[in-house]
Amino acid sequence: MGLVPEVEIIYICPNSYRNNFFPLNIAFKIIKMDKSFPRPTVPIEETSQEGSSGRALSGFGSAALHAGHKTDPLYSHVTPIYASSTFVYDEAEQGMRRFSGEEKGYIYSRWGNPNFTEAEEKISALEAFSLNDETGKPLQLKALLHASGMAALTTLMVSNLKKGDKILSHFSLYSGLEELITKILPQFGIEPVIVDLRDLNKAAEAIKTNPGIKLMHLETPANPTMQCVDLEELTKLAKENNLLVSVDNTFATPYLQQPFRYGVDFVFHSTTKFLNGHGTAIGGILIGKDLEKMNGPVTKTYRILGVNSNPFDAFLLGLGLKTLELRMERHCQNAMEVARFLETQSTIARVNYTGLASHPDHAIAMKQMKHPGGMLSFELKGGIKNGINFMNKLNMCIRTVSLGTAESILCHPASMTHHAIPKEHREKYGITDGLIRMSVGLENLQDILADLEQALE
Ligand code: PLP
Repeated sequence: MGLVPEVEIIYICPNSYRNNFFPLNIAFKIIKMDKSFPRPTVPIEETSQEGSSGRALSGFGSAALHAGHKTDPLYSHVTPIYASSTFVYDEAEQGMRRFSGEEKGYIYSRWGNPNFTEAEEKISALEAFSLNDETGKPLQLKALLHASGMAALTTLMVSNLKKGDKILSHFSLYSGLEELITKILPQFGIEPVIVDLRDLNKAAEAIKTNPGIKLMHLETPANPTMQCVDLEELTKLAKENNLLVSVDNTFATPYLQQPFRYGVDFVFHSTTKFLNGHGTAIGGILIGKDLEKMNGPVTKTYRILGVNSNPFDAFLLGLGLKTLELRMERHCQNAMEVARFLETQSTIARVNYTGLASHPDHAIAMKQMKHPGGMLSFELKGGIKNGINFMNKLNMCIRTVSLGTAESILCHPASMTHHAIPKEHREKYGITDGLIRMSVGLENLQDILADLEQALE
């Protein structure tokens, strides 16, 4: 039985029209319509590192292209956009089986959708790429695609923490998460403990003096200072103290850094950035290795909060992911050259790029990252005024927030993202008046350098 009902098309037209390109009238006669027309179900809990052919793939770039893709029921090459809020049942009993979990399949797009599944499985395959679990089998992960990075962080916190618990984190953090853990979660009795986690003694001391700490959240490299923390040593310390560990891998991507290698519990991304790669959609993903927990309480929280992505954004993410390896190689190559160039400029006081030996966390970055990444920041001499002048002189590079797009993007935190934060407060976290953050794009290097050079004059 085929997947589409068989249809006979009868043209009804006068003889004079017989050779015309368009028939005058068309009648359709359905000659065979199977009552139980099969609606294919796609398992939503499988993850694999295999392409649609079922063969295990040995290259990261091949996995980025093929992992997570299922043969479409109508043989569309690219998975179509399943713009449907709900999914139908052949009969009431099937609905019952779906709701009870006896049968896998989609129910309602707040709970899951084929476009989410493809992106979730692809990103899981990349985060688990070439890694094994404790038993020596390929690491299996479960991911949930969210409406934004902040939505995914909310699921992470709400599904793992309760009143009286504490979160341990480094002081250089994405500002949205900092606000979530210092302003929103305390209203529900969940408190932050923020210390310099680059100092392992301080981390151990914080754990000892705060027995309520349940989760250690790490962001490395951190936004916007590029500070790095030691994933291996901190995870070891966390596990000795029975803490959960989550890692924001947004700046690195799984191509450059795989936190699950060190035994962490969760990896998080703002997919808005390098994973999408083209600045076309906001999104976030939460990936976990405890499948029972991910399929149980974490999925339940996700579904109840209504923090799901949508089919179009998930489709755009899927397209971007296919070229992740190629893009990251070029981002990294260009960033290294841009950092070297900026270091030679007399108008710049300091360049923060993990690939430079002058970066205080260079050794940690090189230990846990394949390349130092596409993000850097630098401090212009002359404070806010020079920061604004420099930004206004850019011709090709884009003046905006966000990062990880194909185009080079620059942002001046003191006048943009952090302008509402008191100077003394932001300076404590390294966000000075002259700090410029740059997401180095895929343009030809000479054009990036030429634009920066004329803006620095
Ligand atoms: N984590 C990092 C490192 C980020 O840079 C961002 C956003 O800039 C987020 C989390 C939040 O993600 P989103 O803006 O997709 O909600």
